[in-house]
Amino acid sequence: MTGDKTAGDPVVTPPLEPESRPDPGSVSRHARPGLSGLADGALEEWLASEGQPAYRARQIRDAIWRQNAQTAEEMLTLPAAFRSRLAHAFRIDTIVEDEIRLADAGLTEKTLHLLSDGALIESVLMHYPARGFAGSSRPLHRERHTLCISSQAGCAVGCPFCATGELGLGRDLETAEIVDQVRHAASRLAATGRNLTNVVFMGMGEPLLNLDRVLEAVAILSDPRQFGLGARHVVVSTSGVVPGIRRLTALGPQFTLAVSLHAARDPLRDVLVPLNRRWPVAEVVAASRDHALATGRRVSYEYVMISGVNDTDVDADALATLLRGDLAHVNLIPMNPVAHTPWTASPPERVAQFAARIRRSGVGVTVRANRGQDAGAACGQLAADRAGELPAAAVARRRDAIVRQSEAALRGGRSSEGLSADLAAAIRSGAAR
Ligand code: SAH
Ligand code: SF4
Repeated sequence: MTGDKTAGDPVVTPPLEPESRPDPGSVSRHARPGLSGLADGALEEWLASEGQPAYRARQIRDAIWRQNAQTAEEMLTLPAAFRSRLAHAFRIDTIVEDEIRLADAGLTEKTLHLLSDGALIESVLMHYPARGFAGSSRPLHRERHTLCISSQAGCAVGCPFCATGELGLGRDLETAEIVDQVRHAASRLAATGRNLTNVVFMGMGEPLLNLDRVLEAVAILSDPRQFGLGARHVVVSTSGVVPGIRRLTALGPQFTLAVSLHAARDPLRDVLVPLNRRWPVAEVVAASRDHALATGRRVSYEYVMISGVNDTDVDADALATLLRGDLAHVNLIPMNPVAHTPWTASPPERVAQFAARIRRSGVGVTVRANRGQDAGAACGQLAADRAGELPAAAVARRRDAIVRQSEAALRGGRSSEGLSADLAAAIRSGAAR
């Protein structure tokens, strides 16, 4: 994740004692649905089948969202016998905090969550203090608390600068596993009298390859009876799943769309975002442009800056030509250092020159400094650490392959390499739902 960078020492909380963790094998994935992820009407239907009055739905939702109950036992407004029925039918909480690392002098909190089948995912909570004019009593920018959440455990897209991409795809998250990341962060904030103000799907995974569940999660998060977050306070980032973008356009504005571009030229984008081999950059931008026109909402384009790879004047001009005249804004993000890539972030002067070149062509651009580098800022890094160190020979092979592919791309050659088998399978199953 990215944002304004403040210096600070990492504080590492010890992992939970093994006995306080759920036994990864004890709850099979589909054994009991997560209570917080039930679609509209499903809770009411179940209550009717149990012979319970309809008002129990409100009691349960209040217990989940206002009281942040993590067990049925904590839902004291419900009769005891019914509490055990509820716990028998649903998982009240689907994730456990396994480790929390603080960075940026406490402004960034990175959490590794353990799921019931042993999968690990990450979320990052970022605090932005209020900022205002000197001498003015009204702050110019209100205080914000933004949570970056995961939509999948791992990711099949395999961008070579991304720690999650290196892990490959574990599995899609269930709706409740997405929503419970928000519940946990909101509860931590509430303990100190603060509110979660923004949610961004920029953690692990490609949200548009798990779109049904992401849409269900967004509907729950924006439901005033549940979390009640305005659609304008939710951002979903995609690496360019064109049918998913088109489906969102047909649905109307559900949230702000961010598109991870990282290169405006196909040969290079084929390497940096392998999904480009399926949906090339012109198709991604055309779908995003249609989305902006249909919804009246500006699309954000994310561009990770990698020294000597995608940060030349030629790249800046290609990007400006691609987006000129669009309802669009570019966010430039110097690459976070990630193990096993041969690359480094573009230096600040290069980023500034690149930004100026785009701005001159009339395209809006912001440079974002990195957040939480001292806590393994790029999503997937904590999970990658847990996965253990790869053998040196495998790391060397990976670096060589990345260098070989990107150098060929920089000479203009478009790779004949197709999609990986995992990515092809993820597209098939993501598009089928
Ligand atoms: N899969 C989606 C959403 C999750 S990634 C997507 O790619 O858009 C969220 C953002 O983090 C993306 O823009 C991604 O490119 C960026 N990111 C990944 N690794 C990074 C790194 N090492 N440094 C900076 N940003 C990174
Ligand atoms: Fe997946 Fe996004 Fe990482 Fe690419 S940047 S591997 S799409 S999570």
